[in-house]
Amino acid sequence: MSKNIDWSNLGFGYIQTDKRFVSNFKDGKWDEGALIDDANITMSECACVLQYAQTVFEGLKAYTTEDGHVVCFRPDLNAARLVDSCKRLEMPTFPEDKFVEAVVKTVEANIDYVPPYGSGATLYLRPYMFGINPVIGVKPAEEYQFRIFCTPVGPYFKGGAKPITIRVSDVDRAAPHGTGDIKAGLNYAMSLHAIVDAHNQGYDENMYLDAATRTKVEETGGANFIFISADGKKLITPKSNSILPSITRRSLMVVAEKYLGLTVEHREVFFDELKDFSECGLCGTAAVISPVGKVVDHGKEICFPAGMEDMGPVTKKLYDTLTGIQMGRIEAPEGWIKTIK
Ligand SMILES: *Cc1c(COP(=O)(O)O)cnc(C)c1O
Repeated sequence: MSKNIDWSNLGFGYIQTDKRFVSNFKDGKWDEGALIDDANITMSECACVLQYAQTVFEGLKAYTTEDGHVVCFRPDLNAARLVDSCKRLEMPTFPEDKFVEAVVKTVEANIDYVPPYGSGATLYLRPYMFGINPVIGVKPAEEYQFRIFCTPVGPYFKGGAKPITIRVSDVDRAAPHGTGDIKAGLNYAMSLHAIVDAHNQGYDENMYLDAATRTKVEETGGANFIFISADGKKLITPKSNSILPSITRRSLMVVAEKYLGLTVEHREVFFDELKDFSECGLCGTAAVISPVGKVVDHGKEICFPAGMEDMGPVTKKLYDTLTGIQMGRIEAPEGWIKTIK
């Protein structure tokens, strides 16, 4: 029985569900893991995660397809990315096959929370891992917990995706050779002030530039950029070793080339080039693509020709094709869809 939830009025917030997956790392190995009821975690006041932010995470969604299956989108890539994040923070890696199994178990155990097809809502899954034993001298923890909880979330855009306005940030997100390319809470902690300030100034998001030269576009706090060339034939997306490798962005690159016949350029993108592009979007699991209508650089406005009313035509095609693949309306490339039910 589907839960008594008003799917169409869900926001993007936390709703506790019945079960979560937990596995503990102790004495150099992971235990079997289990689904448990307790949504709370008890740990030492000196846990490494609390003192030194030794924690990494992932984010993916489960949803109901047009023909009534429950599926996840490319969970193997989340598993692989978590491994990369763990290595960078000296954490044990969680086996990739076990990760995908745990995703499946978590969705199965909370199947009544998977929103119905057509509601626009999805079940958001949050895998994460953290150092749990007491650590006071700076070093990695010896014991870790891996968890996956899930929460139903509403359609990211209620009443359609209106283009947003973003500003160029005065603070940097990630240093060259830093941790910008891993999915770690530490990258988000430093962005909180910038995002609150952006909102206070009337902007939806921050555009971060490369910290070394401040001439190249990196990303926002939680989404990669895509741009469309003036002639509408090219998708251009920034390349840098301090950008988080978005699974949505990597999937859109394939969709652009294989489904829409666009040329894809994954390369350094200079801020000065923005004025030459026709469309701009932010991509990530939460919204798939958020269209950007305007970028403001200290009072100087760059307005994309697609305007402030609707998603640009190429962005719309990318969005419709990728969401069509996810929802089972368009045939997916081999291995992209993990069927759970
Ligand atoms: C999670 C994240 C993204 C989006 O990645 P997806 O895999 O597409 O959800 C982009 N940038 C940052 C900094 C992120 O943490």
